[in-house]
Amino acid sequence: MTRGERRPGRSSWSVRIASVRGIPIEIHASFLLLVVFMGWRTTTSAGLAAAAAEQVLVLAVFVCVALHELGHAIVARRNGVPIAGITLYPFGGVARMARRPPQGMVEVVIAAAGPLVNLAIAATILVVSGGAAAGMSGGLWSRLVGMLLWANLILAFFNLLPAFPLDGGRILRGLLTLRLGWIRATVWAGSIGQVAAALLLLLGVIFDPWLILAGILILPAANAELRYALLLRQLAGRRVGDLVRGELITVDGAATISEVSELSVASPLADFLVSDRGRVVGYLSAPRLWSVLRSDRPATARVAAIVDELARPIPATAPVEDAIGLFDPAGPEVAPVVEVDGSIVGVVAIGDLLRAVQIARRATAADAPSAADDSP
Ligand SMILES: [Zn+2]
Repeated sequence: MTRGERRPGRSSWSVRIASVRGIPIEIHASFLLLVVFMGWRTTTSAGLAAAAAEQVLVLAVFVCVALHELGHAIVARRNGVPIAGITLYPFGGVARMARRPPQGMVEVVIAAAGPLVNLAIAATILVVSGGAAAGMSGGLWSRLVGMLLWANLILAFFNLLPAFPLDGGRILRGLLTLRLGWIRATVWAGSIGQVAAALLLLLGVIFDPWLILAGILILPAANAELRYALLLRQLAGRRVGDLVRGELITVDGAATISEVSELSVASPLADFLVSDRGRVVGYLSAPRLWSVLRSDRPATARVAAIVDELARPIPATAPVEDAIGLFDPAGPEVAPVVEVDGSIVGVVAIGDLLRAVQIARRATAADAPSAADDSP
């Protein structure tokens, strides 16, 4: 499984156990609890030898899950997608991507890499054992190798189910993106994921409680991705150029604060771009100017001394949801918005973009049922 990270960082319940090619691998505390619980249960019911064999199998499956995630991580990095780390949970792992997952064929290739690792391990066991492992017969250890073979096949095929957020769902979305675009593809894949989770819950009630667990794991992630896609659909079509702040006056950095304040009296709503030899060097909002005027800073000081730094320019045609990612979280909060020819049409603050997303989110929550009706 892979996950796009909107909030980099790691779970506080995870412990780092290794680092492979610079990719940190963490293990979630619940995994250790499960190992201890299984060891205790099998020791009391079947004896120490059986418990030891079980622990070896758990460890081996754990390594296979880690290799599955490393498969995702290494292929992702080769495709220019940075990986924040891998976290291993009792029922699988997650390779956390440091930004939104890539779209189209790149997503397909990254998602397919994990199950392919498990299929490769299963094929290797099959070949080395001369096919004997598939029968799971013989002594304790050869049965163990057989179980490892089947565990890898189950890992591969379960993850290949076309149910978002499993790898199969991502492969499906990647392929659908080629025809439908990312948003519609995600609405489709998220909806299919919901249906698959509901089916697993139903089959779990009839056949095997483990399927209930799988359904419970899939459902929230499918819901979250679907909501995110519906949100982006609300925003779809909104461009940064639609959100630029109104009136802008460009002044030279050599102008004094009192000269700029006279301009502000004439146009009280205007913000200022401050230029130096034709190049924009900073931004001065009307509220900031007023607070400077109320301070005891001399009115003869240069305006260049009180400007705010600007973030990198953003194209007016950029979609709102993409533009949010163009701001450096530690950098300036206001960016110039530019036309294709480089001319500045205005400025936009990260807060303006986030507010637009919030409004779209509220609209999404309000019309989610109807939005779901017309989606796929
Ligand atoms: Zn996977």
